[in-house]
Amino acid sequence: MELHFDNTLLRALPRDPIDGPQVRQVPGAVWSSVAPTPVAAPRVLAWSPEVAALLGLKQDDIETAEFAQVFGGNALLPGMVPYATNYGGHQFGNWAGQLGDGRAISLGEAIAADGSRQELQLKGAGPTPYSRFADGRAVLRSSIREFLCSEAMAHLGVPTTRALCLVGTGEDVVRDMFYDGHAAPEPGAVVCRVAPSFLRLGHYELPAARGDTALLRRLVDFTIERDFPELSELAPGAERDAAWFTQICTRTAVLMAHWMRVGFVHGVMNTDNLSVLGLTIDYGPYGWIDDYDPDWTPNTTDAQGRRYRFGWQPQVAFWNLSRLAGALSLLFADPAPLQEALQAYADTYAACERADAAAKLGLPEGAPEAPPLMAELRGLLHGAEVDMTLFFRGLGDHAPGPQALAPLADAFYDPDKYTAHRPAFEAWLTRYAALCAGEDDEAARQRRMRAANPRYVLRNYLAQEAIDRAHDGDLTGVHELLEVLRHPYDDQPGREAFARKRPDWARTRAGCSMLSCSS
Ligand code: AMP
Ligand code: MG
Repeated sequence: MELHFDNTLLRALPRDPIDGPQVRQVPGAVWSSVAPTPVAAPRVLAWSPEVAALLGLKQDDIETAEFAQVFGGNALLPGMVPYATNYGGHQFGNWAGQLGDGRAISLGEAIAADGSRQELQLKGAGPTPYSRFADGRAVLRSSIREFLCSEAMAHLGVPTTRALCLVGTGEDVVRDMFYDGHAAPEPGAVVCRVAPSFLRLGHYELPAARGDTALLRRLVDFTIERDFPELSELAPGAERDAAWFTQICTRTAVLMAHWMRVGFVHGVMNTDNLSVLGLTIDYGPYGWIDDYDPDWTPNTTDAQGRRYRFGWQPQVAFWNLSRLAGALSLLFADPAPLQEALQAYADTYAACERADAAAKLGLPEGAPEAPPLMAELRGLLHGAEVDMTLFFRGLGDHAPGPQALAPLADAFYDPDKYTAHRPAFEAWLTRYAALCAGEDDEAARQRRMRAANPRYVLRNYLAQEAIDRAHDGDLTGVHELLEVLRHPYDDQPGREAFARKRPDWARTRAGCSMLSCSS
């Protein structure tokens, strides 16, 4: 197994003078040298063929004992220099101070087969200076969820960090899943995440909060030069800084539109869990919309305030970017460009939302009727408790018109609501059909809809079923699910079971509709 590393972050940014995992405040530095803590019996449980190919790794490389040792945290390859980075963040609306990579240890920046830079990061590889009161480990159930969802999102075309592999540690980790005094040992695991950069909004907030303008300046320049090559034409200075923050805002807007399009709820949109590259990052108590409900959150820790509910995600991202703007204002003599970038967020999100409304309904790009029609449909779906994924996909499978409702009956969770809401849906379908008739290209409508509306998403109960089987030592559920999710927009004959709506038993089961941060 050969990987080439070019560890620019370590070279360019200040290092914590103390080495090792002792918990501490780390002022004036972006990273700390810390090695993964070895585990008893690392074993590769699953891996992503696409990410392996990106890194130039072959099946033969992955099936070696060396691979499990390296990606379980027991060995390093030449060129790997492990470290944890330092960041802060606003958690649930409050400034939380220093957080940092408490259970993530980067191994280095690999140069991928396509020449791109891909940082390899182990999640769950043991304590770091940022572990605070926790153990730096991750349990198998949450690692399976991160592994599968990273790859599912990528195949859906949603910007995301990737996952190379899932490695079982052969050790138990003790967790109190619902914080109710019932701690229990669970199998541990390590996921190797892969992304061009794991820098988060909180990386910039921390030096700003500490008044360390010089460090903030260095970090911003480093980020622009390494991670935003499209800005390389611009000389360092106010204009480049403004263009950079604008990029962060517009990329985040695009990301939010994707989440809303596919029905993904992040669950913990703290500023330390938002990437400056506009990638989905930190898969914790996330969830997927079954019945369309803008107020739903999978995160039991957020059950009261529902700050991170599905429908609020675009506004929360704006709030988070406003916190970053506040941090960056230390570098701006004139705050106007920061305001303009935030406006660019709102404008970009609105444009994406319009485009997605047209795409999901199969109407031509820019169709002015799409947004109001979509708004009305969302109201109907919510009121009648209808499965989002099944409804949109099914809508594209049948000729438009009131007669299209009957084949969509299965998308309704409550037969009584189907009956009660039927006239409203039929009226909507009649208007929709009239619009489609004006277009008169049924094949184009279906094509657009199949590209915007996935058949397969990582429904919470599907992940939980795979997790239950994995706990019994059977990984085939994880492998099957990964296979299905590699082609989410294709009809996959024989795999209909993966495209069914949430069964009744899963409505209130832990892991299926309720998830805690305990992971
Ligand atoms: P989260 O919001 O779950 O992404 O995590 C918030 C902070 O807690 C981050 O600094 C994490 O690194 C840290 N953290 C979460 N779980 C653990 C753990 N098991 N051990 C050490 N640190 C953790
Ligand atoms: Mg996090």
